[in-house]
Amino acid sequence: ADRRLKGVDFTETTCGFCAVGCRFQLVSKDDEVLGAVPTDDPDHAPVNDFSTCVKGKFGYEFANSDDRLTTPLVRGDDGELHEATWDEALTRVVEGFESIREESGADALAAFASSKCTNEEDYLMQKFARTVLGTKNIDNCARLCHSSTVAALKQTLGFGAMSNRINEDIGEADAYLITGSNTTESHPVLSTRIKRNVHDGADLVVFDPRKVEIAEHASQYVRTKPGYDVAWINGLIRYIVANDLHDEAFIEERTRNFEEVREKVEPFTPEEVERLAGVPPEELERAAETIATADSVVFGWAMGMTQHSHGTQNVLALADLALVTGNVGKPGAGVSPFRGHNNVQGGGGDMGTLPNNLPGYRDVTDPDVLDEFEEAWGVRPPDEVGLKVPEVFTEALAGNVEGLYVMGENPALSEPDVSHAEEALAELPFLVVQDIFETETTEYADVVLPAATFSEKEGTFTNTERRVQLVGQATTPPGGARQDWRIIQDLARRMGHDWSYADPASIMDEIATVAPIYGGISHDRLREEGGLQWPCRDADDPGTPYLYDEEFNFDDGRARFVPADTGEPGELPSEEYPLTLTTGRVLYHWHTGTLTRRVEGLMDHVGEAFVEVNPATAERLGVVDGGRVRVESARGAIEVRAEVSERPGDGVVFVPMHFAAEGAVNRLTGERFDPTSGIPEYKVSSVRLTPIDDG
Ligand code: SF4
Repeated sequence: ADRRLKGVDFTETTCGFCAVGCRFQLVSKDDEVLGAVPTDDPDHAPVNDFSTCVKGKFGYEFANSDDRLTTPLVRGDDGELHEATWDEALTRVVEGFESIREESGADALAAFASSKCTNEEDYLMQKFARTVLGTKNIDNCARLCHSSTVAALKQTLGFGAMSNRINEDIGEADAYLITGSNTTESHPVLSTRIKRNVHDGADLVVFDPRKVEIAEHASQYVRTKPGYDVAWINGLIRYIVANDLHDEAFIEERTRNFEEVREKVEPFTPEEVERLAGVPPEELERAAETIATADSVVFGWAMGMTQHSHGTQNVLALADLALVTGNVGKPGAGVSPFRGHNNVQGGGGDMGTLPNNLPGYRDVTDPDVLDEFEEAWGVRPPDEVGLKVPEVFTEALAGNVEGLYVMGENPALSEPDVSHAEEALAELPFLVVQDIFETETTEYADVVLPAATFSEKEGTFTNTERRVQLVGQATTPPGGARQDWRIIQDLARRMGHDWSYADPASIMDEIATVAPIYGGISHDRLREEGGLQWPCRDADDPGTPYLYDEEFNFDDGRARFVPADTGEPGELPSEEYPLTLTTGRVLYHWHTGTLTRRVEGLMDHVGEAFVEVNPATAERLGVVDGGRVRVESARGAIEVRAEVSERPGDGVVFVPMHFAAEGAVNRLTGERFDPTSGIPEYKVSSVRLTPIDDG
């Protein structure tokens, strides 16, 4: 970029799309974001140096869009949303929440935080829910992505997070097992690191029902049957133990309960694994040998492991496999859940926007923890576990949740079986939505509050490797739009709480006092030293590049093997719905598409939803490439273009998650949940396909 251009500003910041956490400079002029250029300070860009992906480089039209919400909206007696002043809108919000609380109690209220917002904003959102509204019901969309990862890793290793670093560990592993992750399209810069290392000789083993792009680079790709992952992972463990390839010294010195896992995996003979998961014995054996004999292995996964009715069991099995082979707590190895949203690790977890955890993953039912928070906040937080996102909708339909405050989320498109979520949103007596655009969810709102996007605010995001990094403000929010932390603070004050944060830095100072894993983090330090990886317990703590090098996060310092149970998907193919649908992402779009569907350059690449169909399936059904088809499940139907491709196996179809209207895939998915984490089973639904035309 030509730095001499007059009136052009360059702002160091962290990407607002995915959790890889690339750093770059936003280029802006006259309060418009023009694009991104490499950082001036590569030492503070450890993940990406000078590179970014297509979204990070060009995906900013949305910020300048004429569609941005610039003034609050309040629903009038005529049933329509009308422009209002901030005073009118906030008065309505306060009246709405207070009257429900008076008549039905605080637990008739719920709030959703946002993995897109900063740590500071999400921290305030959960504090607002717990101390101002007084409700136990606070959750966020991480419920829908890695809640099963968090549940499983907390039980086995102690922290519900990635154990290692992107560059030094994932970029340097001797071998990889990647499963249920379309890494190239969902985490582009991270996948480049992996591919570069594979090019230099590392082994890459990919198990996935869909031959995703990264599988093209694999030394071994194994197609699996959707929904039977515990079978092949337990099968790998069985083979490794039976052939004495496990790391006995590590198991002996650093773990507990190995015998329970040894017994559990006994039935998973190669023949049984083939029967259940469709993995041929020779493929299982080859993968087991690669994993067991490598010097260091990184286990990488994403939604393909977690979004199942037994997602927690899947991740338990992966953690067991990592422990059996001694691949945790050393360089070049580790467990790597690839997180999705830019700040899902921080805002969606660390900040306590969870029904069971206060900031720093502190237990809401522990009286000592509650004493500490009461001391810090001046108000005692509720001492019960609150409702999870899907439960909020069920309780809304039952009339038990009456008021909902949604910040930066679009549940009317992201929930499974959206028709059901729509019904619940329509039933809710009072809904407040804070967002940067009107979305499918604002259609149901009583009050809409216009917020700021990441280029318009300061704060921090925590990336997938637990690295807390600064976000810089490049532009001002358009019109009357305001930063989320200011809106929440204003509401708290109007509801009688004396909040007076001067800026996001002072909010981080408070976070450091209540969340010990952030104890040494401050904006000043991040500005001087660059990002810091938690746990970072005090001002002298340099942070923790990889976890568990000496001990696991339990009192005795030992990891726990937890045997994983195999289970069937909640819905199996039937005569009426004989195909298996799986959902996912494409490179050019982001989640429900609220941002990227507004960027012409991205829409030029992929402008509408589609269904990928294997050639054999297509031939049987008379579906042609480019033709339109109807995809139906027991819950609803969509009409999309067919893409005939070898990527899915015969009998399996794939639809991306980013589109609305007739392309909204969550019309098809169902409400089946993992019993531990509450994650919905997006990855397995039964459908049928009917050709409409030849395109
Ligand atoms: Fe942003 Fe992720 Fe792309 Fe990096 S890889 S530029 S963090 S979207």
